Amino acid sequence: MTNKYVYLFSEGNASMKNLLGGKGANLAEMTTLGIPVPQGFIVTTEACNKYYEDGRKISDEIISQIFEQLAKLEETTGKKFGDNTNPLLVSVRSGARVSMPGMMDTILNLGLNDVAVEAMAEMTKNPRFAYDSYRRFIQMFSDVVMGIEKRLFENKIDELKEKKGVEFDTDLTAEDLKELVAKFKELYKKEKGEDFPSDPKNQLIESITAVFRSWDNPRAIVYRRLNDIPGEWGTAVNVQQMVFGNKGETSGTGVAFSRNPANGDKAIYGEYLMNAQGEDVVAGIRTPLEIGKLKEQNPEIYAEFEGIVNTLEDHYKDMQDMEFTIEEGKLYFLQTRNGKRTAQAALKIAVDLVEEGMLTKEQAILKVEPKQLDTLLHPAFYTEDLKKATPIAKGLPASPGAACGKIAFTADEAKDRAALGEDVVLVRLETSPEDIEGMIAAKGILTVRGGMTSHAAVVARGMGTCCVAGCGTIKVNEEKRTIEVNGKVYTADDYISIDGTSGNVYGERIKTVTPEISGHFAIFMGWADEIRKLKVRANADSPRDAKQAVEFGAEGIGLCRTEHMFFAEDRIMAVRQMITSKDVEQRKVALAKILPMQKSDFIGIYEAMEGRPVTIRLLDPPLHEFLPTADQDIKDLAKEMGITYDELKGTVQELHEFNPMMGHRGCRLAVSYPEIAEMQARAIIEAAIEVNKSKGHNIVPEIMIPLVGEIKELKYVKDVIVATVEEVMKEKGVTLQYKVGTMIEIPRAALTADEIAKEAEFFSFGTNDLTQMTFGFSRDDAAKFLAAYYEKKIYEQDPFAKLDQTGVGSLIKIAAEKGKATRPDIHLGICGEHGGDPSSIEFCHNTGLDYVSCSPFRVPLARLAAAQAQVKQPRPL
Ligand code: PEP
Ligand code: MG
Repeated sequence: MTNKYVYLFSEGNASMKNLLGGKGANLAEMTTLGIPVPQGFIVTTEACNKYYEDGRKISDEIISQIFEQLAKLEETTGKKFGDNTNPLLVSVRSGARVSMPGMMDTILNLGLNDVAVEAMAEMTKNPRFAYDSYRRFIQMFSDVVMGIEKRLFENKIDELKEKKGVEFDTDLTAEDLKELVAKFKELYKKEKGEDFPSDPKNQLIESITAVFRSWDNPRAIVYRRLNDIPGEWGTAVNVQQMVFGNKGETSGTGVAFSRNPANGDKAIYGEYLMNAQGEDVVAGIRTPLEIGKLKEQNPEIYAEFEGIVNTLEDHYKDMQDMEFTIEEGKLYFLQTRNGKRTAQAALKIAVDLVEEGMLTKEQAILKVEPKQLDTLLHPAFYTEDLKKATPIAKGLPASPGAACGKIAFTADEAKDRAALGEDVVLVRLETSPEDIEGMIAAKGILTVRGGMTSHAAVVARGMGTCCVAGCGTIKVNEEKRTIEVNGKVYTADDYISIDGTSGNVYGERIKTVTPEISGHFAIFMGWADEIRKLKVRANADSPRDAKQAVEFGAEGIGLCRTEHMFFAEDRIMAVRQMITSKDVEQRKVALAKILPMQKSDFIGIYEAMEGRPVTIRLLDPPLHEFLPTADQDIKDLAKEMGITYDELKGTVQELHEFNPMMGHRGCRLAVSYPEIAEMQARAIIEAAIEVNKSKGHNIVPEIMIPLVGEIKELKYVKDVIVATVEEVMKEKGVTLQYKVGTMIEIPRAALTADEIAKEAEFFSFGTNDLTQMTFGFSRDDAAKFLAAYYEKKIYEQDPFAKLDQTGVGSLIKIAAEKGKATRPDIHLGICGEHGGDPSSIEFCHNTGLDYVSCSPFRVPLARLAAAQAQVKQPRPL
């Protein structure tokens, strides 16, 4: 049996989106509903995939199916391609499963040639319009299909205007435009070495080829990566009879939404222009009228229009975004789709649709993009100001939101200037834990190096501060205190603005606004919580972050990274002393200084969490992050420790590692220096006992051991913890429940999880390290070379942002199964950055994890993604 690659609109329906693309499936559905749609056919996404399989060539089989359907279209419309009295003209547009606005190509007025243009002039009694359409078609076809620069055509128009002594395109007469058409064809021949294709069938096949090709243009590839759209989906091509809104005062064109896309109000919202083509509305040459005016101008058409809008919304049970054209008093709908909307509007519409009885709560939950919630929690740029700005560079969208301020070059500077009331953006090559205070003080953070799990990215997300990372085109000169972008130099007195949602950097001041959270947010999130089975915890290292997490609905802390507490100015010295100590005695002196600090942190966190579960991880610092590097720091520390500068400098040099991320970190530290684990276990337990007593909670601390790869090392560290806890309980005369578990972030731990589970009461998947070690990619350097991988389509996504379900996911599945085989009630969670990514959260739900843990600002997103996963694939408790 031969495959069917081309469908008439009357042969499809809305459920065929994967095959026909979103636009095509909806055109088919509207046709079935009896809505007036200019007819046409759809070349399927499978044909697109076949085009690529066949080495970028449309096969003869597909071409003959296209011509068969074209013949049927000619029959239904009574028009013929290239006819000298009644020519058929079509538009050729892309249409993937989901809409990718502006990413792919469109060709209008296809079918025009020297014969058809005369027929059109005669039919419309408007030769100027006919020749204007023709010259636009030649221009569009040459640019989009044949890759001839648009500019060359624009030059010809300018030359002609100068020759005729006129200022505007609209001043050119029909005769002028005819002359222009001849010039355009000459230009085409010069560029291509052949005549402009006058056979419409030729034009059609070339145009369909161009749309297929545009599926793989660079901007489409980037858009797909940002929006999680797999390359294998392909695009369909819609070939649709043209109708004209510019045939005089009884014609017109417009766009409409069935509800307000900005605020969600239930009222038709739209704009139109009489005697105009679609592009006139979009290009803003003439100011369109508000849709209500159509009711006054033409009540009959408006009534029909309103009826169709309501039919479509009722039918799709969602807000629709539609294009329509009126051709000589007859209304056509050219397209409908679920409309894009702001986060505020999305929430209001979802809640309203449930209240109007159109949707169930489960259906409504699927109507809001989890990532959209981000925009409700962070400042954004003022839309009007943003429209006027042009980005000077682009980095990774590491932490969402928008920030604007003057440039600060060091963390100290950021801190000091912010204290004086200045708005600053911290610009660094990369950040290190020492920068924490400056990062807190800055409005936003911009780094030249680093990926989505670099220090800057992780910490910024945790704090909810906007961050653009890995922006390699910026040159930072710390000494001169300047940055240079594309040859332009910016100083500490200059403003920059950064957009952590898009990764864009602007060399100017753009005002920011904090969005208001409406009551619909709470109602909607309440439904998400009723539905979801996966729990949501937060990664939080301070009482401040813990409070924020609870406000956003976190049900516990899944990861408290204790090393993050050590960078405050008044602590770092003691920590460095602990690390550089030559013997146990020296180390114990340092640890004694740190114990009360740790304990007070844990008390603050327990209090903020009000009895909710808290997982605290033992120290896991790559040593290089802590070692003193500046001479003055080494001098100060040596003095504090009562040793010489040279002695300490020697130790620092000895501690240098070539690959610190695979070096002396994680539980390896506790194996070498068990007294560190002892101190931490003591602080964790003493704090819990105190808070239980003072606040009446029943805290069950969860102590987590990082970077385990072997059961014996886990057992060694666990024994140290258990002995310490027993000792503390004895001292205090209290018994306390507690748990000891481990991170699974080394492939060996995942593969031997049945063994590991003998000693671990819980597993938390540290997918940052697990991804790093499974791929063998450095977390901090991968962004640099991944760009080439995206370009060459080896990878479509950053595996540090979106879980690699095939590889890393297999390790998680293996570990979960093996862990449960040994310990059926083992508690399973994830605390890598993927815990805040919607598709990764869905994977965790489907794999049977108990919770995800993510930065506080992603908690609402995670709650929604978990509910959506449950609706899509229900799982028992
Ligand atoms: C991880 O590796 O996924 C993790 C959570 O630990 P960290 O990012 O602190 O290495
Ligand atoms: Mg880790």
